[in-house]
Amino acid sequence: MASLELETLRKEFDGGSIVAVDDLDLSIDDGEFVTVVGPSGCGKSTTLRMIAGLERPSKGRIRLGGTDITDVHARHRDVAMVFQNYALYPHKTIEQNMAFGLRMSTDLSAEEREKRVSEAAEMMGIAELLDDTPDELSGGQKQRVALGRAIVREPEVFLFDEPLSNLDAKLRTTMRTEIQRLQAELGITAVYVTHDQEEAMTMGDRIVILNDGKLQQTGEPTHVYNNPTNQFVGGFVGSPSMNFVDVTAEPIDGGVRLTGADGAFTYDLTSGRADAFGDISGGTYVLGVRPEHVSVGNEGAQSAVPAVVDVVEPVGSDNYLYLDLGTDARAFDTEGAPEFIARVAADIEPEVGETIHVSFDESSVHLFDDRTGEAVT
Ligand code: ATP
Repeated sequence: MASLELETLRKEFDGGSIVAVDDLDLSIDDGEFVTVVGPSGCGKSTTLRMIAGLERPSKGRIRLGGTDITDVHARHRDVAMVFQNYALYPHKTIEQNMAFGLRMSTDLSAEEREKRVSEAAEMMGIAELLDDTPDELSGGQKQRVALGRAIVREPEVFLFDEPLSNLDAKLRTTMRTEIQRLQAELGITAVYVTHDQEEAMTMGDRIVILNDGKLQQTGEPTHVYNNPTNQFVGGFVGSPSMNFVDVTAEPIDGGVRLTGADGAFTYDLTSGRADAFGDISGGTYVLGVRPEHVSVGNEGAQSAVPAVVDVVEPVGSDNYLYLDLGTDARAFDTEGAPEFIARVAADIEPEVGETIHVSFDESSVHLFDDRTGEAVT
C-alpha cells in the first residue's frame, strides 16, 4: 500500500502546442479511492498514463510511497492498470491472461503464481472461466478478468481508465459496487478516471475535477457538490446541471438584491447565504441555483421570480419543469435554447404556457464572478 504524489506534473504534446496536463499537484493517501473526472480532452487519461509510466512527463515528479518513480520503467512500477477495452490477449486462456503480469516476477514459484490466479479468479467470480478464451466471454466477464489480472499483481496502486464505459447501464452499476468492494477489501490506493460525473461522485472517497489540463477542485463529493469553487465545477457536477442566470447584485439592508438582465426580475436574498455575499459592493455576477433548490408556488412571497412553463418532464418521483425566466437563464454547457430547470415533486404539474413563481433555497444559492467564474464565498 502506498500514497501517491504528483508534483507540478506537466505533459505537452506537439512541441508544446498542446498542454494536456498543466502543472498538476495532487496528493493521494494510502488506501484512498480517488475519482478523476472532467470533459473529453481535459487530460484525465494522460495523467493516468504518466502514473503508469506509459507516458513520460514533460515536467514534474511522481512519488509512490515517498519514492520518486518518475524515471522508473512502467514494468517496474508497482501499479496495475485496468482499461476500458479490457486489453486481454485473444489467443491466451483466461488463466494465462491473468498470470501474464506475473511472468516478469522471477521470484515467484509456479505454485505461488497458480495460487494467486485462482484466488483472484475466486474473488472475481470467474473461477469456472479459467480455461476459456476471451472471445467466449461477455463484456462484463472480460472486465472481471481484467480486474482479476490487476489483483494478481498485488500492486500498490490500482489505476482505472474508464473501465466500465463499454458495459450496459445495469452491469455498470453492479461493477461499480464490485470495484468499490474490492478496493475496500484489499485496501489498495486507487485512481479511477471517468467522464461520468455521477460515477465519480458515487464511487470516490474524493473527487478530482480537471478542465483544460488544470485542477479545478478536489474534495469529498458532497463537499464539492455543495461548495463548488467556480462556475465550471458548479455546472459539471450534478444532474440536471446547475442553472446559471446573469444578474447584477447590490447590497441592501440585511442582504443582497439580485436583478435579472433587462430588469426581468428582482430577488432579495436576505437569509441563508446572504451573509456570505455581504461584501458585495455591486456589479455583475452569475447566479447559480441547482434544480432541486428551486421551489414553486410562492406567488405571495416577497421575492419570487415569475417564470413561464415551457415543458413538464415527469421522471417518476419528481417532475422537471423547464422554465423561461424572461432573461438569459442558461443551463451549463448544453445545446439549444437556454432553460432554467426546477426539480419539483411529482404532484406539482403546472400547465405548459402558465406563469408560475419560483423562489430559491437561499442556503444553497451561489454567486460567481462573471469574468473569472470564481465563486463568491
Ligand atoms: P477523453 O475523456 O476524451 O479520453 P481525456 O480527458 O482522457 O479525454 P487526454 O486523452 O488525456 O484527455 O488528452 C488531453 C489532451 O492531450 C487532448 O487535447 C488530446 O488531444 C491531447 N493528446 C493526448 N495524447 C496525445 C498524443 N499522443 N499526441 C498529441 N496530443 C495528445
